[in-house]
Amino acid sequence: MACDRSATLPALLADGAFRQPRRFLAERHVGRCPDCAMALDERHAAKTMLRTKLPFHRAPPGLAARIGAALPRETPPVVARRRGLSQTFAGGLASGTIGALAGVAATLLAVLPLGAPDAAVQGAIDSHIRSLMADHLTDVATSDQHTVKPWLSARLDVSPPVRDMADLGFPLVGGRLDYVAGHKGAAVVYRHAKHVINVFAWAAPGSDTGFAERAHQGFNVVSWRRGGIAYCAVSDLEPDQLAAFARLASGPAS
Ligand SMILES: [Zn+2]
Repeated sequence: MACDRSATLPALLADGAFRQPRRFLAERHVGRCPDCAMALDERHAAKTMLRTKLPFHRAPPGLAARIGAALPRETPPVVARRRGLSQTFAGGLASGTIGALAGVAATLLAVLPLGAPDAAVQGAIDSHIRSLMADHLTDVATSDQHTVKPWLSARLDVSPPVRDMADLGFPLVGGRLDYVAGHKGAAVVYRHAKHVINVFAWAAPGSDTGFAERAHQGFNVVSWRRGGIAYCAVSDLEPDQLAAFARLASGPAS
């Protein structure tokens, strides 16, 4: 099955479009995905060929000025205040390098949904990335739920459900202490194939909520609140798989 990222991710990676930590995550994906690895090799080969094989000609004097004079005058578009990419997008339009930059920006916009998530979701994504980058997934690494749960509850004021769901395709990897947006809490770690799922849990008094789904920075997040505990499940799993997982993981501890 072809990887759905192989059309955009290798191109962006080869063009240096990612900053850390997204570059790390993109390289990590390519390291494991034959489709993207092949696409990246092809991209590098094409770039090398363009650099070495194409003849270069110096532009005649005055060409840039003539092109500049021929372009219609543009008034900068009114763009709603948004962070990051949309500024690049607006800047590209205003400076007149319309085609190329708009194309790049459109690709990026398709890859990265805009709009800032709330602090808890952003915090959960940050902690998820940190756990992958630092290779520090677990403080207690075991698939035994009867070890992980007491280990967490001895160190925290919350006791989230911990279930080994290997029979459902989500084996328990372990747990660790973590911080999410200033809240000290638990991270219960699961896997699905090569995907890591962090379920963050911290004390959050208030009534129970349903499941809220959200995609940001290439990750899917499902959050909910139950029994005075806020939960955020973060992974690069497909949204429907993560949603199904969250419903299983939120079940009563056995
Ligand atoms: Zn891929």
